[in-house]
Amino acid sequence: MRSPEKWSLPLLTPDVFQDEPAHGLLLRLSDRNGIPRMSVMRAMTGIDLRRVRTGHQLQVVADLAGCCTPELGALHYKKLPARSVEIRGELLRFPSDVLVHGRRLCVKCLDEEYYHRFWWDLSMVATCPKHSLVLTGACSCGTRLSWGDGAIAKCADCADGDARGAQPQPAQDEDVALDRWILSRFGVTQISEPELLSRLPITGALEIIERVAALGLAQHPSKFQFLQRSRRSIWVRGYKCIAEGRVQDALDQAYRLSRAGNDRHVDITTAYGPFWDWLVSRGGENFCSPLSRIVQTHSSAIFSLSNGMSASASRRIQTPSERDCPHEATPANSREFGTRAAHTSWTVGLDVDAIRTIDRRRPYIDDRELQGLLHVSAGQIGDLIEFELLTRRDGGYHAQRRPYLRAEVEKLLDELKAEARMSSKEQSDLDSIVTLCERHAVSLGGILAAMRRGELSVAALRRGSTGLRALLVRVPKFLNIVEQLQVAV
Ligand SMILES: [Zn+2]
Ligand SMILES: [Zn+2]
Repeated sequence: MRSPEKWSLPLLTPDVFQDEPAHGLLLRLSDRNGIPRMSVMRAMTGIDLRRVRTGHQLQVVADLAGCCTPELGALHYKKLPARSVEIRGELLRFPSDVLVHGRRLCVKCLDEEYYHRFWWDLSMVATCPKHSLVLTGACSCGTRLSWGDGAIAKCADCADGDARGAQPQPAQDEDVALDRWILSRFGVTQISEPELLSRLPITGALEIIERVAALGLAQHPSKFQFLQRSRRSIWVRGYKCIAEGRVQDALDQAYRLSRAGNDRHVDITTAYGPFWDWLVSRGGENFCSPLSRIVQTHSSAIFSLSNGMSASASRRIQTPSERDCPHEATPANSREFGTRAAHTSWTVGLDVDAIRTIDRRRPYIDDRELQGLLHVSAGQIGDLIEFELLTRRDGGYHAQRRPYLRAEVEKLLDELKAEARMSSKEQSDLDSIVTLCERHAVSLGGILAAMRRGELSVAALRRGSTGLRALLVRVPKFLNIVEQLQVAV
């Protein structure tokens, strides 16, 4: 490969737009210099667009374009294990969630500013919410746009094509609403997100959207292919239902479908088609507590449910009573039904390993989630930061929205766990670290730092409790440390 110092392209592209990815800049550079195909660009410069897309050769591109590498490095797909990539704080499956062959654009966006937007490559997006247009995927000559093209607005096959010449297709309002939500996750649009979806990574949120959409579509759709609809149309339907707060109605509809023409007994596991099994297999409350609450409320209304051994333990589904559900047929074989129902437990509440199960695919977590995991207040989080037990990310809107690196929080919890010794006896009336801190006006950060240094031993970490509340301290030693800390203050 020739070194960029030895030659240069005559026209540079030094200004990187905020939502222009590195490979988009490379395309603009090629376009400005009249290079007809990306293969020619590659032969001239040695730069491979596919590699730039995942963050390689950024320095070479920056040198050629005359721009700064940090600006250029802001928008590429950061590769993570298990065929996933991160972009703007969201995790995507790579390459299935990203268009790596076809290329699309919004003609009106391009008229406003001539550069490639990163979100045109998200395969889950179909429209431009700003202009309410379906994204265009073809040149005016009819050829599909691709990443082999040397220009932004045309294909490499024709002489004078321009995708902006073709009439763009107006988008349906419901499609635009879905994309407006999807793109809010990537900082392109701003909306207030439905609570049901707000704590989940986008792939998890779309999974819920699909399942909610499927509730009223067919009696027992075990595979989405059987629904005979495009995935996108299912998403549009599901998102509308969630955004309008009609999940209860969808559950009603699924329940009616299950009962209609169904001569076998409908119990809680079959009342909503495969939805129940899916939700339980995904972890129920741990996966999405707002959805779990809606389903619980609904199922409580049609079946008789009771609390389990404790509030945070499991709920067992009992035999539906005639009183609560007057139209319900009594099972033909009640023993068989009872056995089956007893196996269906509803897991409610978090455990200390919650961090490993919630939002697993999202590398960053927000303040609220951190507070929930550690069971501490916002002020106490400030403590942790002051004592350098955790650091907040620097950066723009997205870094501020989800400032903590998941791996770092996991490491902190692991370290605290390593400090913990299993208690030999029941510790019934010991306070949690948090309440002890409050009572003695000591900072939580100071206590945790002491635990970390091994100066304070924590007695027990029990499954079934939550986060730091489960790390019970041994009182005499604890008070010792507290005194020292108070002296220090
Ligand atoms: Zn547009
Ligand atoms: Zn063309």
